[in-house]
Amino acid sequence: MTAPVIGVDIGGTKTAAALVDPDGRVRARREVPTPARAGPEAVLDAAAGLAAELFGAARAGPVGVGTAGTVDPATGTIRYATDSLPGWAGTPVAGALAARLGRQVRVTNDVSAAALGESWAGAGRGRRHVLLVAVGTGLGGAVVRDGRVETGARGAAGQLGHLPAPGAHRLRCGCGRYGHLEAVASGTGLSAAYAVATGAGVTGRTVAERANAGDRIAGQVVDRAGAALGAALAGLVALLDPEAVLITGGAAAVLLPAASAAYRAELPEGWAGVPLLPAALGADAVLVGAARLATRTTDDGGTGP
Ligand SMILES: [Zn+2]
Repeated sequence: MTAPVIGVDIGGTKTAAALVDPDGRVRARREVPTPARAGPEAVLDAAAGLAAELFGAARAGPVGVGTAGTVDPATGTIRYATDSLPGWAGTPVAGALAARLGRQVRVTNDVSAAALGESWAGAGRGRRHVLLVAVGTGLGGAVVRDGRVETGARGAAGQLGHLPAPGAHRLRCGCGRYGHLEAVASGTGLSAAYAVATGAGVTGRTVAERANAGDRIAGQVVDRAGAALGAALAGLVALLDPEAVLITGGAAAVLLPAASAAYRAELPEGWAGVPLLPAALGADAVLVGAARLATRTTDDGGTGP
C-alpha cells in the first residue's frame, strides 16, 4: 500500500482507530470507551467517528476492522458475539461502516487481526506463516497462512481453546463442555484451578501476581497451565507448519516460561527450529492488522461504498 490506511479495533471495553503507515507503523491513534450498552448502532457510530477524525488528519485510503466476535468472512457480518457487546451478533459491520464512511471496509475477528498485525509488523515480521495464540480471560488463536489470515468456513478457524487438555476433564470450558485447553490455560482457568487448590476465589490476574511473588500453589497452577498450553502448541506446529508461534494477551507473560519448556520438550524434531515468541505490538496489534486487512486485494470479507 502507499497511502496510510485506517485500522479500527472494536472491543467490549474500548474502541480505537489508528492511521497506519505503509510500513505498519501507527502514525496517529484515537480511542473511546465502547458504548456497548447503547447497542450496535451506537458502537458503529463511535467507530465511524474515530475513523472520520483520522481521515481529517490525512488522505487515507480504505478501512479495516478487527472486532470482538466471529465474523462471516464472506459478508463482514457478525455471526456470533458474547454479552460483552449486546446485540452485536447479526450486525453487518462491513456494510454499515462502509455506508457511514463512504469507503471500502473489511472486517475480521480481533484475534485474527492481531495475528495479521504481528506477522506483518510485529514479532512475526518477515514471516508469512504464523500461529498466534491469545491467552487472556479466555483462550483464542488465529492462523496466518501465506500472509493471510485463515478464516475457515465460518470465520472461526484457529480456536485452539477447545482442544482436549490432559488433566482438565473436571474443568468447564467457556464453551460449556469439559476438559478443553481453555479451561486450564486462560485467566479463567488459572482462577478456577487456584480455587480448587486453595478455596480462594481470586482472578487469574491475582493468581499470576501471586505466582510471580513466590506463592507455591499459584506457581504450580501457572506451571500446569503453561505446560498444557506449550504441549498443545507443539502439536499444532506439526499440523500447521508455521515459521513461528506468537503468544499474546494478559496472561501470556506469566505462562510463557512453562509453556516454552513444554513446547520445546514436545516439539517433533522436524520443527525443532520453530520459535515460540512473545508478541511485540501490544494493544496496537489489532489496529495494525486491521489496516493490513484493508489493503488486501481479494474481495471477500468486506464491502465497498
Ligand atoms: Zn471449549
